Amino acid sequence: MICLGIESTAHTFGVGIVKDKQIIANSKDMFVTETGGMKPVDAMDHHVDCCKDVIKQALEEAKITMKDVDLISFSQSPGLGHCLRVGAVVARSLSKINNIPLIGINHCIAHLEIGKLLTGAKDPVLLYASGANTQIIAYEGGKYRIFGETLDQGVGNLLDSFARYMGLGFPGGPKIYELAKKGKFVEIPYCVKGMDVSFGGILTFLKQQYDKGVSKEDLSFSLQETVFAMLIEVSERAMAHCDKKELVLGGGVACNKRLQEMADKMCEGRNAKSFVPPNDVLVDNGAMIAWLGLLEYEAGVRTKDTSIKPYERTDDIEVCWC
Ligand code: AMP
Ligand code: MG
Repeated sequence: MICLGIESTAHTFGVGIVKDKQIIANSKDMFVTETGGMKPVDAMDHHVDCCKDVIKQALEEAKITMKDVDLISFSQSPGLGHCLRVGAVVARSLSKINNIPLIGINHCIAHLEIGKLLTGAKDPVLLYASGANTQIIAYEGGKYRIFGETLDQGVGNLLDSFARYMGLGFPGGPKIYELAKKGKFVEIPYCVKGMDVSFGGILTFLKQQYDKGVSKEDLSFSLQETVFAMLIEVSERAMAHCDKKELVLGGGVACNKRLQEMADKMCEGRNAKSFVPPNDVLVDNGAMIAWLGLLEYEAGVRTKDTSIKPYERTDDIEVCWC
């Protein structure tokens, strides 16, 4: 069975094609800026402009035509309304024109399932660290439950907002990673509240320190050390609580080598294993949407209401395919 998956929750318009358990295409086009952040309406225009080319590219990469596609899936939730709407309209149109069934997908769960497929992890805790989302997720009692999460913005948003404040463009995470290589540690707030984390106060503090003349390098280094330690602390407690021995990283921030190193160390210390899927599925992508589409469809899930659900939560979904 061949599924074509469309991703458009935020900055990336992606089209992935999965045949059985194999990714046969994963094309994407990401909205970027030289300076300043991402306005949803600009990202939406970006998706409208590039969608035709990205679909064409994916079909060429997979060496198939729309006639070969058995199922279309799209990211239905959660995300920016402007962006989700483009993917949903494209998916509905392709489905109607070609008479192919359509299924709506929760983006956070797609990150988890592609991580399991590509790493071989069986029953992991997922540290999902992306732009808008930061959640610690694990399967318990028929759902992927959120054991800890950000109380305000996603960790990637923190990196991007601070990078923007320092006059760097979007995405800021990779730029902060490069600056951090030359920095030394200065104390910044550490905000873990129970199983949750909070980044708003840290952002304010970083901006104040930057205005006082503390270097970009030192602030970037200290930012990474502090917020990644917060994420790893909560992930470790979720693993202990659920008695799980595997950690999978997901989301664009998980491309960060320092975060990967900290995850490895923590897992080593508790006789567990840390898994990092390849970068092209850590960042937002269509292949994970296609893969979860196949999993759900084959388990009998059908989507009647194809309207977007920008605020849907990971634990709103009944997991019937595990
Ligand atoms: P996503 O929303 O999952 O596609 O992830 C996008 C986020 O990942 C943005 O906030 C980026 O700044 C961040 N990001 C991408 N690469 C890196 C990196 N190497 N280190 C830290 N953050 C990164
Ligand atoms: Mg994501």
